[in-house]
Amino acid sequence: MISTVEHPELTVCKLGTNLDNLLEQPEGQRILSCIQCGTCAGTCPYGDYMEYSPRKIIAMLRRGMIDEVLQSDSMLKCVACYSCMIKCPRGIKLSDVLLPLVKEQTLIRAKEMPAELQHSLQNTLRYGNPMGESSRKRAAWTAKSKAPVPIMSEIKRPVDVLWFVECYTSFYNRGQDNSCAVARLFNALGIDFAILGNEEKCAGDCGQLTWESGLFETLTDYNMVIFKKYKFNKIVTGDPHAFNAFRIRYPMYGFDYEVWHTTPFLAEYVDKLKPKLKKPLNLTVTYHDSCCIGRRAGFYDEGRTLLKAIPGVKIVEMVHNRMNSICCGGGGGGMWLDTYFKQKDMERLSERRVKEAIATGADVLAVSCPYEIYRFEDALKTIPHEKPMVVRDVVELLAESLVEE
Ligand code: SF4
Repeated sequence: MISTVEHPELTVCKLGTNLDNLLEQPEGQRILSCIQCGTCAGTCPYGDYMEYSPRKIIAMLRRGMIDEVLQSDSMLKCVACYSCMIKCPRGIKLSDVLLPLVKEQTLIRAKEMPAELQHSLQNTLRYGNPMGESSRKRAAWTAKSKAPVPIMSEIKRPVDVLWFVECYTSFYNRGQDNSCAVARLFNALGIDFAILGNEEKCAGDCGQLTWESGLFETLTDYNMVIFKKYKFNKIVTGDPHAFNAFRIRYPMYGFDYEVWHTTPFLAEYVDKLKPKLKKPLNLTVTYHDSCCIGRRAGFYDEGRTLLKAIPGVKIVEMVHNRMNSICCGGGGGGMWLDTYFKQKDMERLSERRVKEAIATGADVLAVSCPYEIYRFEDALKTIPHEKPMVVRDVVELLAESLVEE
C-alpha cells in the first residue's frame, strides 16, 4: 500500500506567506541554490508567452525585484502543470510553493481580475462549487446511478472508503457519467463505501493554486469538520486536484487520512476486476497522464494497467507521455482562464494535446480527471480530424466492459 500523504513542512509554505519574507522560509531559502540552468523555462508549456520565465522570476526575486515581478502578468499564465518542479535539478518546489505565492501577490495587485476566474471563486465561496449550483443538488446525480450509492448521513455506520465525489462529477452531465461508472465498479468489487452527499463542498485545490488563501482555508475548515463527523478508513476521490489538495495541503490543517485517487486505487484491485471485464471494447486508446496524479504523484502505470485489463483495448502512446505529458491547461485556475488566454492570443493547451492524440490514430483519448473530459471534448470540436475520436475516463471504459453476474 502506498502512503500518499506528504509531510507538509517539506513541501509548502504557510498560506499568506509574504514574498518579502520568503527567503526566511525553509523552502524559500532553497531558491538561493538555483543554478539558473533554465530547465524550468524550457519545459514550461506557456513559457514562450510569459514576460518573465520561472528562471527569470527566481533571479529577480533573489535580487529583490519583487515589484517588477508582481507588475507582470506572467504568473497568471502558470497552469500548475508541475513540469518545472519535477525537472528542476535543485529540487526547488516551484509549482508547490514559489509560483503560487507570486500568483497570489500578482492577483492582489492586478488592476483587473480575469472575470471568469473571479466568478468561479465567488461561486465556490457562496455555493461550495465553482459552477454556482445549489449545494442541495449535490447528490442528485445518484438518482441516475444504476448501482447503489450510500450516503454517510443516512447509513449511520463506519465505512472503509469515503468517496469524495467533487464538483464536476456531481453537477455536470459528463462528470455524472464518470460518477455512475465509479459507483458500478465499487459495487462490483464489493467495496464498502459511502459519499458525503449534500454535505460535501469543493476541496478547494483551485482556490489554493490560484492562491485565494481565504477561500481555501474556508473550504478546508468546513471539510475537516465534516470528515470528523464520520468514521472511515480512507478517502478516495476521482478528482486529481482534490487528491493533491488532501495529500499536500490539508495535512497542515490536521488531515491525516489515507487518501487515494480512483485510478491508482482501482489498479490495486486489477486482479479482482479483470475477470469481471468480459465485454470486449475493440478500441485503440491513447492515455493522457494527468499532471496531478502523473507528474506530481508519480502514478504513470496505473491508468495503463487498468486499460490493459479491458479485453480488446490496444494502447498507443502520444509523443509526450508520462513525465513529459502536455498539460490540459486546466490547473492553477486555468479552467477559468480560457477567455483571458484567448485575449492574449495564447494557444489552448488542450488543443495542443488533442493534436498529439489525433496523430496516434486512436479511437479514444482516455483520461483520469473530470476536468480533462470537458477540456479535450471542447478541443476536439475545434481541431479538424478525419477519424472520429472520443474522450472517455478510464473508469467509464472499465464500467463499459464490466459484466455483472
Ligand atoms: Fe533554477 Fe531549477 Fe529553474 Fe534550473 S530548473 S533555473 S535550478 S529553478
